[in-house]
Parts: sequence; C-alpha cells; structure tokens
Amino acid sequence: MSDNKINLMNMGPEELSDFCVSLGEKPFRATQLLKWIYQYGVTDFNEMSNIKKDLRAHLCEIACIRAPEIVSEQRSADGTIKWALNVGDNQLVETVLIPEEDRNTLCISTQVGCPVKCSFCRTGAQGFNRNLKVFEIIGQVFCAASRVGFVRGGQEKPISNIVMMGMGEPLLNLENVLKVTKILLSDYAFGLSKRRVTISTSGIAPVINKLAGRVDVALALSLHAPNDELRDILVPVNKKYKIKEVLDSVKNYLDKSNANCGRVTIEYVLLDHVNDSTDHAHELARLLKDVPCKINLIPFNSHDASDYKKPSNSRIDRFYKVLFDYGFTVVTRTTRGDDIAAACGQLAGQVKDRILKNQNAKIESITV
Ligand code: SAH
Ligand code: SF4
Repeated sequence: MSDNKINLMNMGPEELSDFCVSLGEKPFRATQLLKWIYQYGVTDFNEMSNIKKDLRAHLCEIACIRAPEIVSEQRSADGTIKWALNVGDNQLVETVLIPEEDRNTLCISTQVGCPVKCSFCRTGAQGFNRNLKVFEIIGQVFCAASRVGFVRGGQEKPISNIVMMGMGEPLLNLENVLKVTKILLSDYAFGLSKRRVTISTSGIAPVINKLAGRVDVALALSLHAPNDELRDILVPVNKKYKIKEVLDSVKNYLDKSNANCGRVTIEYVLLDHVNDSTDHAHELARLLKDVPCKINLIPFNSHDASDYKKPSNSRIDRFYKVLFDYGFTVVTRTTRGDDIAAACGQLAGQVKDRILKNQNAKIESITV
C-alpha cells in the first residue's frame, strides 16, 4: 500500500540526503535519486540501475515516489496547456504551461485557494483551504514534464522557467516553497538557473525579509496600486503590510539577491477606471523612483467572479507611455490561454473554503 510509504517527492534535497543517511547509506544516494526522479521521470526504484539491488528492494518496501494525479488537460488555441491535479478530498489545483519561442514557462500553484482575497482575482474569490505539500507543488512540475519531456528525456524543449503565479500566495507557504525551490535549482534535479525561477507575492513583508539570504531567485511583487488607500481595497493584505514596509522588505531582499540583475518585477493589473489613469501612472513612477525594478502591466483578465473590466487599448497604451517616459523598463503582458481560463488570475481549481467555515482563520492570523 503506497499510502503507508514515505513519499520521496515530499522531501527537499537536504531531507532526502538525511533520509539516505538514516538508511545507513552515503548522502550521495540522494543525488542519484534526484536525478532519476526529476531528470528522467523514473518513479519505479527497480529501474534505477545504478542503485544496488538490496537498497532498491528496501526502498520498494518503505518508500514511494508519487505526484498528484492529473485529472484533466485543456489545450488553448495559442498552445497554452492547463492541467488540473487532484490533491485529495475532492480538491483540484491548476498548473499552466505557456510555450513561447525561446522558453517553456510553467506557472505553478502553492495553495488550495488563497487567503489574501484580492478583489480582482478568481482564486481569491474561492476562499482558502490549505497549503500545498512539497510533493503537490513539485509534483506539478513533474506532471507537466511527464507530458512535455524531462531534461534527460531527449525532448528539445523541456520546462525552462517556473513562475509561482498560479493559485495561492507562495510566501504563506514558505517552508514548502523553499524546499521546492531547492529542487528546482539543484543540478541533480531540474537544474534551473536562479533567474528562471520566480516567486510572485502580494507583499507579505516579514516573509520577504526572511527570504533575504535564504534563497536567491527572481522576485515579483504584485503591487497593483500606487497608494495605500487604493491598495487596501485591491490587495487586502495591504491593511496589514503597507506599501512602504513592503518596498523596504523588497529592497532588503534585493541587497542579497542578484537573480534578476538586482531588480524586482513589479506586477500591476490594469483595471478599467480603477487604477489605470495617467495620474496613477505618475504616482506609480514617483513611488518606484528608488526601487530597482521592471514593470509588468497585466491587463485584467475577466472572469465570472468579478465586475472589473479590462481597460481599452488606448488607456493601456497611455499608462504604459507615462512609465516608459520616466525611463522604466515596462512590458505589457499579452494574455495567454484566455479561452481555457488559464490566464493570470483565472485559475479556479476546486476549493473547499475553510475560511468561510472558520471565522477565526482570517488572513491576520494566517500570516507569520
Ligand atoms: N499570490 C501571488 C501569486 C499568484 S497571482 C501574487 O499575488 O503575486 C499571480 C499574478 O496574477 C498576480 O500578479 C496577480 O495579481 C495576478 N492576477 C490575479 N488576478 C488577475 C486577473 N483577473 N487578471 C490579471 N491578473 C491577475
Ligand atoms: Fe491570492 Fe495572488 Fe490571487 Fe491575491 S492575486 S488572491 S495573493 S492568488
């Protein structure tokens, strides 16, 4: 019964090494296991030819390698693929592959739902159930790779970039996210370079401070408003961590990180007549004048849980131009996978909301 067995996919590289040592083995066995699992996609210990027979037999008895099961796959006309994965108890999380000319980006989820409840986000509208475990997060990468090819699977274009921009707030699931990040960066596993892994956050300032020095990957901050008054409404966690505190924590992180050439990516969802005027753009430029950053403008992706609208192209262009003229690097993100509800903020999965049932579990008590 695999249920009683230890799932090695639930371990970061260090834990896996400790596990091997606990079996009386040398720590390097962990590097062999990592390679088999994440570079070749092998989950049967008997196929791991460089691991001695008696150890393979012992591993078969006590351990397993198990990712969540894929329950559906949808392909968009633009090549985007969305998978729904079963994480038990009738709950689903979604992961999205965005193929481009020069890269294959996978957008992964870190929580079942999200407790931050940004007013424009489909995931937030569903409520929050729980943090995803390590195997449920890295398992998304494993499942996607099992469809499009592992690094050593002979495929021309394996997954090249990971963005934690799916369902959930990664920094409210810090320890698991750190273990996953180590698997993504490890040369024995996915071997991605640090600039190709992005953690996106709504701005949990104390956790951003904690990240500094513990991990070095690209950081994206979902800002969405140039002042606290507006951000309090759009990103409710702002009532707890104000813009200044968040930007200070980001600068702290950048002091110790060179993953993204010392810059943070500022994400700004453009909502028609809410945060998209040229005055907002000037205010944003003033706010960010001392923050090394590039700015991603994300025209709002509509969904059935929101009345916000995407601005007209001319409003988007005007906003862009103001920032560009100040000298910022600005990119307006093109919508991908809209026809299969796989674009930013459209991911829904299937969530049994625990916050609704438990009034004590408000965002204030969930953050560190
Ligand atoms: N919780 C994290 C990461 C997941 S959300 C965060 O908020 O950063 C990933 C990005 O999608 C965020 O920048 C988020 O603000 C944006 N987003 C959410 N809903 C959206 C929508 N309906 N349209 C466009 N972008 C959206
Ligand atoms: Fe959560 Fe990010 Fe959606 Fe906000 S935008 S509700 S933080 S997933």
